[in-house]
Amino acid sequence: MESQVPTRIELARPLPPLTYLAPAGLPEGVRVQVRLRSGMAVGVALGPDPEPPDVPLKPVMAVLDPFPLLPPRLLELLAFAGRYYGCGLAHLLPLCLPQAVLADWETQVPGGPRLADLRDQGRWDALVEAGAAWHAGTLRLPSLFHRRALRGAGITEVRLTGLPNPPRITAAQARLLLALEGAGGAMLEGLLLEACATGPGVLANLERQGLVERVRRLDLMAQRREDVADRRVELSGEQCRAVAAVDLEAFGGHLLYGITGSGKTEVYLELAERVLARGRRVLWLVPEIGLTPRLLSRLEGRFPGQVAVGHAGLNATEKQADVMRLLQDGAPLFVGVRNAVLAPLRDIGLIIVDEEQEGSYKSEEHPRIHARDLAVKRAQLEGCPVLLGSATPSLESWHAAQAGRYQLLRLMERPAGVNLPSVKVVDLRECYKAERRKVVFAPLLLRAMDEVLARGEQAMLLLNRRGFENFWMCRACGLTFDCPHCDLSLTYHKGAFRLRCHLCGFETAPPEVCIHCGAEHLRGVGEGTEQIEDLLRARFPAARILRLDRDTTSRRGSLEAGLLAAEAGEVDILVGTQMLAKGHTFPRLTLVGILNADLGLKIPDFRAAERTFQLLTQVAGRAGRAELKGHVLLQTYSPDHPAIVHAVAQDFEAFAAEELPYREALGYPPYAAMSLYRSEGDSPREALEPLQRLRRRLESVPGLRILGPLEAPIPKVKDRFRMQLILKAGGRGPLGEAMRAAPLAPGGAVTLDRDPLNFGV
Ligand code: ADP
Ligand code: ZN
Repeated sequence: MESQVPTRIELARPLPPLTYLAPAGLPEGVRVQVRLRSGMAVGVALGPDPEPPDVPLKPVMAVLDPFPLLPPRLLELLAFAGRYYGCGLAHLLPLCLPQAVLADWETQVPGGPRLADLRDQGRWDALVEAGAAWHAGTLRLPSLFHRRALRGAGITEVRLTGLPNPPRITAAQARLLLALEGAGGAMLEGLLLEACATGPGVLANLERQGLVERVRRLDLMAQRREDVADRRVELSGEQCRAVAAVDLEAFGGHLLYGITGSGKTEVYLELAERVLARGRRVLWLVPEIGLTPRLLSRLEGRFPGQVAVGHAGLNATEKQADVMRLLQDGAPLFVGVRNAVLAPLRDIGLIIVDEEQEGSYKSEEHPRIHARDLAVKRAQLEGCPVLLGSATPSLESWHAAQAGRYQLLRLMERPAGVNLPSVKVVDLRECYKAERRKVVFAPLLLRAMDEVLARGEQAMLLLNRRGFENFWMCRACGLTFDCPHCDLSLTYHKGAFRLRCHLCGFETAPPEVCIHCGAEHLRGVGEGTEQIEDLLRARFPAARILRLDRDTTSRRGSLEAGLLAAEAGEVDILVGTQMLAKGHTFPRLTLVGILNADLGLKIPDFRAAERTFQLLTQVAGRAGRAELKGHVLLQTYSPDHPAIVHAVAQDFEAFAAEELPYREALGYPPYAAMSLYRSEGDSPREALEPLQRLRRRLESVPGLRILGPLEAPIPKVKDRFRMQLILKAGGRGPLGEAMRAAPLAPGGAVTLDRDPLNFGV
């Protein structure tokens, strides 16, 4: 029987590591199950505790993994991320590995003992050795994972059709059929082949005879079956140069800069193909999977059967099946959103980060990782290139390219058939003067819409504000109707007949009279998409209008369905928030109207101009992707703002050239690194004190500028008062130093956001 030693176990809870009795030699990074208070919890072994607490220790209930399941270089990345973002392995592990992935201890090392025997003899060194060989691909462990958990989930499933077996089948075919029967008639293809130790040829034969059928369970791909054929293009000169410039044998950061439609994806595909041909793997990150059916079908067309997809919306078993495929090397190309940067893929030869400027790569909850930044780090650890692509790069990446840290690859030509739209500014101040009232749709915009509809083409209107009216106020006393729990006014939703808080979800029936002075003169201010839809229905009664915003697309898949309908030509006018900006191409869309380009500029965040520029450029790019010429009308009260001026000219480089000197002068990223410490409390004082203490501890750290503590831009949310402390430094070093000088207690009052992206809330 093995001996037990005090071992530090970290749990994915806001707690410091706890000490339990665990088998001697238990390798760091394996998951264990422990009792915590009256329940059970999964934790990660960190190693022996040299100074165990002087209390009776509880033993771990079960060791879940025979050895660390994650590839060693991924563990290195996690260690880095843990130090950088200030979180433990146990908090990162669930991002890489679903908890339900369980080892099958009955598995036998070929020609050797069962894993369970090694465990019972306490031979963890032998297990670790087997694990290393398994990770290196030199040892195959036939059924390392429990299949029970997997059955019925997955990517491609093989099912019995119910046809009687023909008189002559081979022994291998019989094994397959028996295995399927034993599994209740259906199994994941990869697991089936592995269990029967046969190749896909045997399966194909059975399929030809009609005895089994193969079904893709994950049918995102199938939405576009007709598209799936591999359509190869001849790469243009600049695409070829971009491909040739990427050294596949070494780490290197590359920024692929080219407007939408300039052929970036073709460059990714070509590079991916070369990497896969060398037997290495490709990690491909996208900001949002639901908006990329076209990409998925292009991938599937080019690399049939080699693509696995990881996305947030998957249910647990699907996710699990996906991760299994990665762990077992079933899919050399993995496409996914943010957390996919931590996917258990080994021997990566290329990492792609498409639309690298997107905010969705940054997690807004603990651990607050940034997938793009981790992608660069991962490429460094793997010794492979990383390709960041964008039409409007983040100023961080652009600056890194200017400084020579990334190689800049440009795609400046547009392939035939892709036209830049013409963009015109409508000065809303002039409209106001002319009409002596606030103008929602400028006369120019209405005329353009009439023409577009008469020609049977499509128009898209963007307003980045949902609801009917942004807030209500009393004309008599000036009171605004605010959320009782947050420092934010309530938004009127006419369809639901509710005033709603967009932060905490509080809602109430709209009052008839002012709750303060009793006057009847209540007024809604600031139109939202819901009102725009109403106005459009009145003005264009014959048009088919579709509104897409968070209120109309809360059901899973409804955004996708709406966009597909629009793409199929079933919609004349699309109206919505920024979700319209991304992903889709509408062949008949020839007019884009931006109703109020200034909305995003008012957010108290030094990136407000950058975000506005990106959004406007993206939306404008929706117009005229096909043969038809596109027009964009951009309504604004501040036509001279650089974000607007350069968006009108669709000139990213000019925008960057004007914005970067401001950042430099004011000491903002990319010229400085920042950390944001937040704290909350039941009173302003309770929120403030921990930050004041923190500030005192940080004052001795050299190279830091400390701002605050101050109220957060929205000082109260859900009845909790919020304060923040901002650290700035010339580089990242002092910020890491600050973390060492004043480590945060797990679960304590203060949380840390490194490289924060969101200052506005
Ligand atoms: P991006 O990723 O920059 O938006 P894509 O790679 O998706 O651009 O290309 C836009 C369209 O142009 C696609 O339909 C693509 O197949 C086509 N395309 C790209 N490069 C070429 C090329 N060299 N020859 C012909 N068509 C191309
Ligand atoms: Zn609220």
